[in-house]
Amino acid sequence: MRVIFHLDMDAFFVSVEELFDPSLKGKPVVVGGRPDQRGVVSAASYAARRFGVHSAMPLRTAYKHCPQAVFVEGHPTRYRDYSHKVHQVLQSFSPVVEMASIDEAYLDLTGSERLLGPPLQAANKLHEAIQAGTGLNCSIGAATSRLVAKICSDQAKPNGILWILPGMEARFLAPLEVRRIPGVGKVMEKNLHSVGIRKVGDLALLDEAFLEQRFGKWGLALAGKAKGLDAGGWFDAEIGAGDDPKSISHEHTFDQDTADRGQIESTLARMSEMVGRRLREHGLWARTVQLKLRYKDFSTFTRAHTLTEATQLDTVLMAESRRLFQRNWTGKPVRLVGVQASSLDGEPGQMNLLEQSSHVQWTKALTAADKLRDKFGESAVSLAAGMRGRFRERVHENPAGLPGKKIKPPPGE
Ligand SMILES: [Mg+2]
Repeated sequence: MRVIFHLDMDAFFVSVEELFDPSLKGKPVVVGGRPDQRGVVSAASYAARRFGVHSAMPLRTAYKHCPQAVFVEGHPTRYRDYSHKVHQVLQSFSPVVEMASIDEAYLDLTGSERLLGPPLQAANKLHEAIQAGTGLNCSIGAATSRLVAKICSDQAKPNGILWILPGMEARFLAPLEVRRIPGVGKVMEKNLHSVGIRKVGDLALLDEAFLEQRFGKWGLALAGKAKGLDAGGWFDAEIGAGDDPKSISHEHTFDQDTADRGQIESTLARMSEMVGRRLREHGLWARTVQLKLRYKDFSTFTRAHTLTEATQLDTVLMAESRRLFQRNWTGKPVRLVGVQASSLDGEPGQMNLLEQSSHVQWTKALTAADKLRDKFGESAVSLAAGMRGRFRERVHENPAGLPGKKIKPPPGE
């Protein structure tokens, strides 16, 4: 019998902020920036959520909902440090750990009963170890599948543990709204509602053939999910199999829309550095560089270019993103820019001798820069010439695009 845990840190960014400033405890806290700034909420404390504030909401809207909240910029370096601490505790429990985002993970504890006891006991130990190792609260779901474990940890929040006995999965899921199934987004929910399916239990009663006919492959996966199985999409893979990110990206929302070419290009350079750094952290090389521009009217433009040689160098990413920008910018004011690296590989691929020696030199220089940034913060060293305007670092909670915080919509959504 499989034993799968899903562990999710409670209000992670806010809780880390509270560790460094205990006066924030219990208050409505919004992480992401000042209330008069552009950009969105990265995280909100439970007290702030009670006023309707949630992550991804524009900061200004958050202020309207909860003007008395404490607004903080946030400390991405601290969140990464604490995520690392969480990972270390998890690794002491199981060799099969997969961080699904900065603050949540799946663990496979199958066969660990002799060492850690039955699932509920093991979950208790893990809960205590996380508290002891980080000072932070988490919630843990335990079940025979990742799907059910993930739904459990959510039901257990805050600071709780929920274990679903083997064989009870379908009964546990039956009374839940269909949208609680990871992957069921607004469109799919509407489609299901239109045929009278509101609860997971309604789904479980239906014939697989009907679901397949109606919703295609996704319908079959839904039928499996309603029984609590890891059916379809990412859940099919074993824990750890999807550990490599599919893409790495950074984006920046300007405080004010800008048509200043210099400002946009230097911001792109900065994004490229941050993407390069993450590539080196993960030991990955990218073949594809993508530029993202969002204009004042929210129309969004993306254009990708495939490199002849895979890279993890800031300089190459900078040159490519700048070239894509220069070729495609309409000249209109820009609201947001982003750089994404994809087609990732754990090896650099073929390089000629000249490229090799230049690559080695750049890697040395950049690795030295990474070390300085580790020590003194993300903006300590930058090749991005003449950054104009203030710059805020964004941490993406779900770099791997796994079904963590942000659930990937099913095909067609
Ligand atoms: Mg969390």
